[in-house]
Amino acid sequence: MSLKILFVQPSTSAPMGESLAPPLWPSILTSLTPKRHQVDFLHCGFEEPTEKKLLNYDIVAISVLTSMANNAYKVGDMCKNLGIKCVMGGIHTYVLPEEARQHCDSVILGEAEYIWQKVLIDAEKDALQPFYKGTLTKPEDFPIPDLSIYKKYRFFTTKLAEIVRGCPYNCRFCGATMYSGRQYRYKRVENIVKEIENWDGGRRIAHFTNTNLNASPKKTLEIMERIKDYNLRWWSACSVDILDHEDMIKAVADAGCLVLQFGFESISKETLKSMNKQFNIKRDYRMLVKKCHDYGIEVGASFIFGWDTDTKDVFKNTVEFALDADIDIPGYLPLTPFPGTEIYKELMAQNRILTNDWSKYNWNTCVYRPKNMTREELLNGCYYAYQESYSTRSIFHRLFSRPRGFKESMLLLLFSGLGRFVILQSKSHWRTEEKRRYIFPSTVPSHIRHELAIDDK
Ligand code: SF4
Repeated sequence: MSLKILFVQPSTSAPMGESLAPPLWPSILTSLTPKRHQVDFLHCGFEEPTEKKLLNYDIVAISVLTSMANNAYKVGDMCKNLGIKCVMGGIHTYVLPEEARQHCDSVILGEAEYIWQKVLIDAEKDALQPFYKGTLTKPEDFPIPDLSIYKKYRFFTTKLAEIVRGCPYNCRFCGATMYSGRQYRYKRVENIVKEIENWDGGRRIAHFTNTNLNASPKKTLEIMERIKDYNLRWWSACSVDILDHEDMIKAVADAGCLVLQFGFESISKETLKSMNKQFNIKRDYRMLVKKCHDYGIEVGASFIFGWDTDTKDVFKNTVEFALDADIDIPGYLPLTPFPGTEIYKELMAQNRILTNDWSKYNWNTCVYRPKNMTREELLNGCYYAYQESYSTRSIFHRLFSRPRGFKESMLLLLFSGLGRFVILQSKSHWRTEEKRRYIFPSTVPSHIRHELAIDDK
């Protein structure tokens, strides 16, 4: 039997730049789907999943992050009402499978590569099981994603490649280790090269969707050496310990890296310790930024505010540091304790979590009671940090702080535009869209601000 399968990417309540690059999972599942079935993709950031559209399919598959959970559940409920099979997976359903199961026929727990075909066979027989337990995929079995599934939308880039999965660090706010395991798993170099060779023409800007590009310097060096002749331009997340390997910064630049995105998280040693990110303490952020700049790589760095060790001066101090260190694309986030993480468990035990409305777990709402500041002060602090860092003056300062090529300048402006977008969202979009209502409440006029508050009793 041939199934018509729809992959649905739910819309998110987080300002994530949905049109920059698509999620990887639909292209992975497409490549694993036997050819007798038909596959299609619906990205809710671009189009509504209406009943009329859903009725064209036999089965709907949805991957769920916490900030998307409410929207994913709405789609799941629609499927239920229409009698269409629905399967969910992703990190949120991994943590809360019973909750997800109320909105779909089956939940895939963990990585789906080894279980997806079994799910389809069961769907054909109309015998879906409530839960499927995935296991960590061996690196040699990482499939080559089928990127043709993205054609219907205009993303900035659809050239995606995942080089490595897993993370041994287990930072207390992050679920990557819990979901993808402590071991780094590198895709085979020949497969990475094959993927790149499969990419169609057009823009050569790519996104390497890694937890950490620098997981194993030896392996990464080998990969960089192999891909450097493909004239790519790309960006990726990376850990700060790349500073210990200058040869690797050079190799990464030679292979076409435009931007490395680091989780600096805090400039305070005490705070880094409290988030279990000690490996950041040993590295000099300024030196790292400088080294990247020396090789022509732009630096993105994110900071998380609201830890129990943070006081009200953290915002000003951090922004001054970011501007002084010449970070090209700084990002500032209020701590968001996602379910399943250590910090969520701790705050829950202390009775400081204020809501389990997952739409508010969007890196833009304060969903817990901070220790040394009010929730409003925390959100105002994030807003202030964005305003200072993405003022026209700051952007132009960065743009001309060192020589850049045309493409590099354009990319910096694009990312700066995203920074400005966060500010704009807080100023205007809250009026109309429920999903953006909870962004920076203090910027909302007081007569409706009470609507936005989470009940904090
Ligand atoms: S924040 Fe980065 S380094 Fe820390 S656990 Fe998550 S992926 Fe690993």
